[in-house]
Amino acid sequence: MTEVRTPQVTAQHIPEKSEFQDDFGIGRVPGSFRVNDPDSDGEQTFWYVCPCGCGSLAPLTVGNGFKPTNAGYATWQWDGSLDRPTLHPSVHHVGHWHGWLRNGVWESC
Ligand SMILES: [Zn+2]
Repeated sequence: MTEVRTPQVTAQHIPEKSEFQDDFGIGRVPGSFRVNDPDSDGEQTFWYVCPCGCGSLAPLTVGNGFKPTNAGYATWQWDGSLDRPTLHPSVHHVGHWHGWLRNGVWESC
């Protein structure tokens, strides 16, 4: 599969898991996301639906206001916003899409 560049995709917060995940993958909203509660290290799982439109889900390990450093795997800094979230660094959904989530918008790079 070739990675695609998309027009800007809005990151819609869908807090209700059953709505977000839609078991059959039919109604998943590209670029939508939900965030789990922090664990004891303050790490949270930021689940998102691939912005490319394929309907696949992926988890990112994030810190609210910090980038977890001792995880032993890739992590992101999240600004804590549910309305207009920003993640750093860029997000690579390998084989699908690569870009930035900034101020509530997924933007291809
Ligand atoms: Zn995709």
